Parts: sequence; structure tokens; C-alpha cells
Amino acid sequence: MTERLDMLGIGKSFFATRALDDVNFSCTAGEVHALVGLNGAGKSTLMKILGGVYQRDEGEIRINNTPVEIAAPADAGRHGIAMIHQELSLIGELTVAGNIFLGKEIRHKGTPFMNKAEMARQVRAQLDRFGLALDPHRPVRELNSGEKQIVEIIRALMSDAWLIVMDEPTSALSEEDKEMLFDFIRRMKAEGIAIIYISHHMPEIFGIAEDVTVMRDGVIVLSERIAETSEDHVIKSMTGAELDQFVKPHKQITGKVVLSVDGLSSPGNYDGVTLGVHEGEIVVLTGLRGCGAPELAKAIFGLDAGYGGEVRYLDKTLKPGRGPAVAVREGMGLVTENRDKNGILPPLSVRDNIALPFLEKTLKGGLIDGARVDSIVAKAIRDTSTKTSSPDQEIRFLSGGNKQKICFSRWLDEDLKLLILLEPTRGIDVHAKADIYRIIEDLAGRGVGILILSYEIDEVLMLGDRVLTMYQGATIHEYAYPHFDKDRMLADMAGAGHTT
Ligand code: ADP
Ligand code: MG
Repeated sequence: MTERLDMLGIGKSFFATRALDDVNFSCTAGEVHALVGLNGAGKSTLMKILGGVYQRDEGEIRINNTPVEIAAPADAGRHGIAMIHQELSLIGELTVAGNIFLGKEIRHKGTPFMNKAEMARQVRAQLDRFGLALDPHRPVRELNSGEKQIVEIIRALMSDAWLIVMDEPTSALSEEDKEMLFDFIRRMKAEGIAIIYISHHMPEIFGIAEDVTVMRDGVIVLSERIAETSEDHVIKSMTGAELDQFVKPHKQITGKVVLSVDGLSSPGNYDGVTLGVHEGEIVVLTGLRGCGAPELAKAIFGLDAGYGGEVRYLDKTLKPGRGPAVAVREGMGLVTENRDKNGILPPLSVRDNIALPFLEKTLKGGLIDGARVDSIVAKAIRDTSTKTSSPDQEIRFLSGGNKQKICFSRWLDEDLKLLILLEPTRGIDVHAKADIYRIIEDLAGRGVGILILSYEIDEVLMLGDRVLTMYQGATIHEYAYPHFDKDRMLADMAGAGHTT
């Protein structure tokens, strides 16, 4: 029997946000159904409802025309639906087979001892079935992201999944691993597996999918057979025709060049990138996750030694991998995307977190000038409208938006010449977003050159004086305000016109 899933009239609200409204979505065994849409369109919410992570408010889920209840992830599993998450849930210390059989180990008859040979044999048989050359005995920590993804999928298939949901599976994969994954997907199709594939890469979608559904603001705006649509059509329906509300004040960029990057290349990351940032200018790099922009930004800051090409900053050529200390001394700042990991020191106070980069400057004859620190901290909190009960509050108790403001406040110092921002508003609420946009515009107004990496098209359009689109490590086009073309930018980012 051909398996079939239908999600009918699905509705879901989060307080005032209508995340899904009357959504109809179907897929069939042996086919790949691509699900696309800009950030916030509702893709993950729809899939979480299918996976039993969220409960729908309205609608019905049917498998082979029979209504089913999916109240918890275990229910999804029982119905043969598996989610492959971006944050993979494997245990590095266990082998491939150990992970696949985790919780349902095969034991030697009548003993508590695991039958490792039998488990490996069964895994081997599955890997062979899909033409995958992976050793069941290898510890998972030795595998790359592509191989780990394959282990997750095999684990799902061995628990009798017939429907696999993949959320942007290629975002962290090398070219070679992508090929391996696509081969695997083609073989799964041939074996009658259904796949829901969330991605923005047009070449991938048009290379492996049979159907494509586009969501926008919680509704389905396009659902078609791949053979009957075009990349252009898909991209246009992602953005819609409505004009953008925001009008950015026009600035004349007349200052001198702060940063110029010439032919920067790092194999597998970015390739032949040339760009410049002027005083007071906001340059935005954008693309899909995996486009190489964060690696590029970190190399400019001095965190990567292995690149070719040249980085010139304030008329000096910078040495690759010179480290952050040098950058900071020279007035170059970086706010990372991974704030909890390397942006803040969670157990320290707000005050200590702000003062950190200034310690050298606030030393007076080897002693810390406490009064100077206090005034810097007070000013930083005020300038960024950070909400904290006191400077002595431990930073880990602040909201994401306020933590981000603290990461910024360190750089409001008068010596700053260039600030590099990676995903400056990732995971923070609208109010904090507005504050952060204001801080960025203020800094630019003061003459600081700003280089931003953002994956959110609306933010890109709102902040950029110049925008560079990237795809697979290369810059595709440069756009100067006000000549922004949202559809064309999205097409660049999605690799429209490329072939896999
Ligand atoms: P996508 O995956 O397409 O980027 P999402 O499904 O994550 O979109 O989000 C759709 C909408 O629902 C967005 O407006 C998002 O802010 C909102 N949303 C998603 N999850 C939650 C949640 N747990 N609480 C509140 N709002 C949410
Ligand atoms: Mg999502």
C-alpha cells in the first residue's frame, strides 16, 4: 500500500501570533515534498505539530485517510513519522550501531550482555541497502555532520519510519556530504520512503523534490508539482508583492575606507571575496546558512589563520590569525552569533561582562580604576537601554535581548572604528530588536564602519547601505541602497540558476 499523509485545515496560534491558518499539506510515499518560506512563515510550527511537539488548535491529521492523534513525539514515532533535527541527538562516545540501537539493544540470549556483532550486522545490512559506506563500529564523535545525519536517518528507518522530515539538512554539509545525502534520498524514494524537505536552496529543491509548497505568514501560498513550476515562481511567492513599510533615511557615504578585503579565500568556506567598508557605512552580508559569511567575518577579525588574499584595515595589512586582542586594540569589535557560548561569561555580573574588554584601559599603575569602570558600565547600560535590576546582577539571568545589548555595549567606546556583527538579532524579541537597530544606526552615524551578517531578508533591507549576497562561499551580487531588489537577492541566496 502506498502510504500517504494529509494535514487538513491546520490552525495554530501563539497568543496573538497566528502561526498557522487553515494549512493543507500532503505527502506520499516515494516522493520528496519541499517546504519553503522565509523565516517565521510557519514551517517549523507545522512540522512540530506533525511531530507531536506542539498541539494544533484546529484541523486534522490523516494517515492513509484515517484520522490519527499525535499528542506527543512518541505518537509520531508510532505512526512511522521521524524528525531529523538540526541539533542532532547522537551520543559521541557510542558507535554508529550503539546509537542506532540505543534503548533497544540486542542482547545475547538469557544474558544482560549486548550482542554487538548482531547489532552491527543489522546496521551494516541497512547501510548496504542504501549504498552507504559507513562502519557500524566507528564512534559517532569521529563522524562529520553528513555522516551523523545519515546515522539519524538510518536509526529512524530501522524503527520503521516511512516519513522523514528534514529541516535544512544541508546547511552544515560539505559538497561531498551533500552528494552523499542526495544519493541517499534518491534511494529512500526508490524504497518507498516519503520525505518532507525544508530548504531554501533552489538547486536542491529542483534537483530532488517532486512537490513544492511555499508558506508565507502562516498560510500556504503555493503548492505545485516541481515539474509544473519554476525557481522564479517559487521565489516570488515566498516574498509576496506587498511593498515594504520601512523607509531607510538616505545617507551620503563619504568617509574613507576602514576595511578592504581583497580576494579572500579559504577552501570550503569562502572563495575570492572582495569587499570594502567605509566610515559610517553599514555593509550587510547575506545568504543561507552555510554560505560562508560567518567564517569570512571571523577571518577578518583575526580568528582564522588559514586564508589566502588580503585584509587591509586602516591602511595596514593585517596578519591572518593575529587574534582578537590585536583587533580590539586597533578598534575593531566583533559580536558573535553564539552569545551564550563565547559572547558572555554567564556566571559574572553585568558589570564585569561590560568591563571585560576595557580592563586594560582602566588600569592605573597596575590597579583597576573602579570609578572609571563604574562610569563606563553605567553609560553602557544607559546607552543601550539594557534592562537589569543592577550592574551586579549575574548576566545569565537577563533575557536574550538584554544579553545581546550587553555584548554591544562593550563596543560603544569612542575608539571603535569597525564593528562586525554576526546575526545581531538572532532569537530576540521585537522591542530589543528595535533597540539594537537604533544602536547600530547610532554607531554608523558616529562614523563607525559596520559589517553585519544577517540571514533575515527584512533585516538586511532595513539596515544595509550596501548588501552583498553570498552563495556557497562566493559573493553573487552587490546592491547599493536604494537599489535593493528583494526577489533578486533571495534568488542569489537560494542559488537560483546554479546546478547541483
Ligand atoms: P519558520 O520555521 O517558517 O521560520 P516558525 O514556525 O518557527 O517559522 O514560526 C512561525 C511563527 O510562529 C513566527 O511568527 C514565530 O515567531 C511564531 N512562533 C513559533 N514558535 C513559537 C512559540 N513557541 N511561541 C511563540 N511564538 C512562536
Ligand atoms: Mg524554522
